[in-house]
Amino acid sequence: MRLSRYFLPVLKENPSEAQIVSHRLMLRAGMIKQSAAGIYSWLPLGFKILRKLENIVHEEQARAGHMAMLMPTIQSADLWRESGRYDAYGEEMLRIKDRGGREMLFTPTAEELITDIFRAHVSSYKDLPLTMYQIQWKFRDEVRPRFGVMRGREFLMKDGYNFDLTKEDALHAYNRHLVSYLRTYERMGLQAIPMRADSGPIGGDDTHEFLVLAETGESEVFYDSAVTDLSFGDRDIDYGSVEDCAAVMEEFTSRYARTDETHDPALFNAIPEERRRTARGIEVGQIFYFGTKYSEAMGATVQRPDGKPVPVHMGSHGIGVSRLMGAIIEASHDDKGIIWPEGVTPYHAGIVNLKQGDAEADAACEALYASLTALGLEPLYDDRNERAGGKFATMDLIGLPWRITVGPRGLKNGVVELTSRRTGESEELPPEAVVARLAQIYAGIA
Ligand code: ATP
Ligand code: MG
Repeated sequence: MRLSRYFLPVLKENPSEAQIVSHRLMLRAGMIKQSAAGIYSWLPLGFKILRKLENIVHEEQARAGHMAMLMPTIQSADLWRESGRYDAYGEEMLRIKDRGGREMLFTPTAEELITDIFRAHVSSYKDLPLTMYQIQWKFRDEVRPRFGVMRGREFLMKDGYNFDLTKEDALHAYNRHLVSYLRTYERMGLQAIPMRADSGPIGGDDTHEFLVLAETGESEVFYDSAVTDLSFGDRDIDYGSVEDCAAVMEEFTSRYARTDETHDPALFNAIPEERRRTARGIEVGQIFYFGTKYSEAMGATVQRPDGKPVPVHMGSHGIGVSRLMGAIIEASHDDKGIIWPEGVTPYHAGIVNLKQGDAEADAACEALYASLTALGLEPLYDDRNERAGGKFATMDLIGLPWRITVGPRGLKNGVVELTSRRTGESEELPPEAVVARLAQIYAGIA
């Protein structure tokens, strides 16, 4: 992509409505534009990153054996009456009437609809286990939408639903989701800690929230500092193995880590004092096992091998895809702007031409652009007729992890400069060496 052709409406001034850094930087970097309270348009740069986050979620769901599908955003109120949630959900639900006066709603989550699909088509244990998910827009009429995409009213969520014959099978699905979520967040460059939580309007007993520690987080959390030493890494887990998934669950959830809703001061105080931590966190996901709550209410039964019909065991699992963008920025920025982790960066490297119009500099930039593209990498080339200072400021603000600076002086010595956004360190290298270095950095990521 060439910056001269790109729609990137960057703001020079800090927008006054933004209270937290991620909101500020998303507006300044021209990623989003508010259209109404808690409702945003995603401009090309923001949308590109959103797609990257979605792709990581899709890839990790596929690895866990879950099937992607898509359900409508507008649903009939009747289904929600069956579960009793049409009234229970309260003011957060956006209720709509169609021209025939039929009551509809904009879906805040989709347990009812997926259960309706299930009961229409599945009646035997032979079709289980089954896990399907979607990445779809949700609407919740939040009392206080704020912090940009962190607490929006319309937001993008991955929501997945598992159907199993027995509680044991459903708990395996629960553990499997925990494993796949750990991997998903790590690929996004985030540490998200599973914490025992409260189930809220979804219902059920077993639930963990995934929290990214950040001062601006809305949840108060309490944990044993040992949990922050854990990392999933690139271990090869067999998602079908009950033991493998249970072992990861045990490793990541046996230490104390809870949100304020489930906090137990007595248990907390039993942790050695130097490991006790109180902090704030951003909830980026949650997993639930709620047994037969919806299947009983809505008549979703399957026949066991002995022919007896039983309500199916269910769980649901959510990732806040659009909120994650804010969480990543909260966790990774400096006073100049965003610093994207390599796994989610919108473009792999920025090319800054210090002397646009200089035949040699232009040719060197074009050659770098072509070589990176040929490797399957996406460069963002700042080919505008602007001063170097302005070009650097834009690159720093939008946060590409690598910048290649090309100028006549370096080219005389056969070199360009490769700069890391994170460390600020630069190295002078021949253009081919820069291309090779970037290929190596992104091997296995891009
Ligand atoms: P919260 O407690 O933050 O209101 P929740 O527990 O009600 O969230 P869930 O039903 O667990 O939300 O939804 C799954 C995920 O969707 C959450 O973990 C969160 O990351 C994301 N999410 C929920 N509400 C919002 C919102 N208003 N804006 C952006 N993302 C949201
Ligand atoms: Mg939640």
